Amino acid sequence: MFYGLDIGGTKIELAAFDQNFNLIEQVRKSTPLDDYPLFLDTISQMVIEFDKSLSCKGSVGIGFPGIQNYQDHTFVSVNIPCVIGKALDGDLSQLLDRKVLVANDCKCFALSEAVLGSAKSYKNVFGAIIGTGAGGGQVSEGQLHSGVRGFAGEWGHITASAFLIDKHKLPLWPCACGLAGCAEQYVSGSGLQNIYKYLYQKKTSQALAKVTGQQIMSLVEKQDDTALHAFAIYLDMLAASLATMHLSYDLDAIVLGGGMSNVKALYDKLPALVAQHLFDGVPVPAILAPELGDSSGVRGAALLHKGQL
Ligand SMILES: [Zn+2]
Repeated sequence: MFYGLDIGGTKIELAAFDQNFNLIEQVRKSTPLDDYPLFLDTISQMVIEFDKSLSCKGSVGIGFPGIQNYQDHTFVSVNIPCVIGKALDGDLSQLLDRKVLVANDCKCFALSEAVLGSAKSYKNVFGAIIGTGAGGGQVSEGQLHSGVRGFAGEWGHITASAFLIDKHKLPLWPCACGLAGCAEQYVSGSGLQNIYKYLYQKKTSQALAKVTGQQIMSLVEKQDDTALHAFAIYLDMLAASLATMHLSYDLDAIVLGGGMSNVKALYDKLPALVAQHLFDGVPVPAILAPELGDSSGVRGAALLHKGQL
């Protein structure tokens, strides 16, 4: 039996899958944010209850919204405060007496869509999350490619094209990672907001405190000039970033995830725009909408053990 845990800032979701990845059982509990022993205990209890009710000792994979120190596996950045500085995979492996695998939730998304979701008939797939941030993962022949230390696929922190920043007269925005000009600042959902706010201020001389991606997209539908301009720049920047990933990995499909993956116009417009950033003779990969929705987290986490048992 394969168990997948999707751990978020509000809930922990555990799902059990059989050898064919049919969903067998699922449970949710709220996430203890400030008490690490309670956090570990909650997860252990959920897993042990599944072992009892399913009469097995399932493999445990976890999708987690954080960044690990690649030397000692402690978490350095995560929205669940009690896990900061802790080596979750080692602690849980010991408690549950089995090898617990933990991966970034963006990688779990990529794995689930590539193996079980919209890209399952493709060979070499990049899952590109465009939500608050821009994360992702590459899956080749059903295997997640993590690199030696696990940060392969961190496309959001590859520098955005200097040519495009100059062409569109945009500033070099600082990134939460400590670098400046990272693609994430231009191609994520927050990137669209950054671009719109910048153009709005330039046009009206007034700062715009808050705007959501949905508000910008509804302005696009109403043919608002500033929103149309921001969206055109956003598409160009996103297409260039995806072309970079294609030239790195030679893909046959890209699956989009995160809030911006709900914008239907992306699937119409991106193929031609990606082609503009590729040299002659390079085919554009299929650009696909995700299929599994919220369940991609637990499915991808459970898949971490596939091929390892
Ligand atoms: Zn960055």
